[in-house]
Amino acid sequence: MRETKIIEIAHQDALTVLPNRALMLDRLAQIVSSGQRHDWVAAIMFINLDRLKNINDTQGHNVGDTVLREIFIRLRACVRQSDTIARQGGDEFVAILTDIGAPEKAAVMAERLLQECRRSVEVNGRSFALPASIGIALYPTDGATVDLLMKHADTAMYHAKNEGKNQFHFFSPQMNLRAVQRVSLEAQLVRALRFNQFMLYYQPQLDMKTHRMIGMEALIRWDSDAGVILPGQFIPMAEESSLIIQIGEWAIHEACRQIAEWNRSGIHTPKIGVNLSCRQFSGDIVAVVEDALRENNVLAHTLELEITESMLAKDPTEAILIMHELCRMGIELSLDDFGTGYSNLSNLKKFPVKTIKIDREFVTGLPEDENDKVIVQSTLSIARQMNLKTLAEGIETEEHRRALYSLGCDAGQGFLFSRPLPPAEVECRFFKTVAVG
Ligand code: C2E
Ligand code: MG
Ligand code: MG
Repeated sequence: MRETKIIEIAHQDALTVLPNRALMLDRLAQIVSSGQRHDWVAAIMFINLDRLKNINDTQGHNVGDTVLREIFIRLRACVRQSDTIARQGGDEFVAILTDIGAPEKAAVMAERLLQECRRSVEVNGRSFALPASIGIALYPTDGATVDLLMKHADTAMYHAKNEGKNQFHFFSPQMNLRAVQRVSLEAQLVRALRFNQFMLYYQPQLDMKTHRMIGMEALIRWDSDAGVILPGQFIPMAEESSLIIQIGEWAIHEACRQIAEWNRSGIHTPKIGVNLSCRQFSGDIVAVVEDALRENNVLAHTLELEITESMLAKDPTEAILIMHELCRMGIELSLDDFGTGYSNLSNLKKFPVKTIKIDREFVTGLPEDENDKVIVQSTLSIARQMNLKTLAEGIETEEHRRALYSLGCDAGQGFLFSRPLPPAEVECRFFKTVAVG
């Protein structure tokens, strides 16, 4: 009896009481050794829950663990008794399917597992859906050892994640090439910093009523040897390492430098918003901003910092302190991508933000999509009650603009008004008449 218990504990994940990595490695070793005798095809799948981190950050680990356990039960119910579902740690499960017959079966299975993850999980009256990314390696074609199978399933999983999540990918040898590129991307970013290859583009933000420009968002671009690269292609990677700290610091300094340059040539810019990453949001940020303002002789009220809800999750007390310190300096804060995280509305009133930015995700469907409309409407009404300004992102059409205007949104930004532009072009199109000598 006692021995069984010990074996059980050794094979369980301490936090979630799910079968763990040790068990998985054990099963894999069995497959590899008996596979040589049986001549069968097995599949190993790395299942990454794309949004679990977000849930943990915003709802706490108890909720995250409950969601994990529920997903585990569902995944377990999808596979045969002889198959294995284990937790690899963090937000990752591994499925080991023995003797699947044909590789296509693995695809059918992966789709079913994805569906189970997508179906929402209810915890404390709230529902969470967890899109997943699945990477599949097949035994024996993709590797005859435990190490290789794991490595290749992991590579395939990264590939699925990069391709937009919520999908599965089989391993292919070309993916190894991509993995190498990922490593070298980091080296290239270091180089980009050193050789000053980053630029800030500026996207105007307009008052919905008067159509006057009330601000601009600074958006980073990488002027690489291969052409201009958008932040979606490199910021997530930079965020995985400490590089984002340097890149973020560069952006704050560059925005201040540009404001000063414009001021010198007689252009009085509206406030300019700079995006912050989670990892930048520590006590150091205050000194970084102070330095950038002082060095460039720029007034604090010309700078706005865009934060996101996830920054407030880890240590809300510390985050709120930092926010108040920035506000005391005269910096405005706005809450970016509102509605995409699992917002804790009761927290909102503790944050000294001035503006809520409604994410493009909810603007796209306007005016037809009832869900989007309800979300935008409620956001606007919450903002009104809390005395916050609202700005909608991603306004692409006249219909979007009209719908947002009639719903009472204060300001907007989007391709309808202007794409993000390099400084010279902003100057030409938006400041031409103001600039005098
Ligand atoms: P974000 O802060 O939500 O910025 C808005 C994004 O929406 C920008 O993409 C902008 O070009 C795009 N956009 C604006 N209007 C429209 C529209 O009408 N239609 C469509 N389809 N898109 C529109 P971009 O420049 O690719 O930036 C993507 C994200 O990268 C930003 O999202 C922000 O989270 C991040 N980012 C950009 N610059 C920086 C930076 O300096 N530091 C950090 N940490 N993140 C940055
Ligand atoms: Mg932003
Ligand atoms: Mg945004």
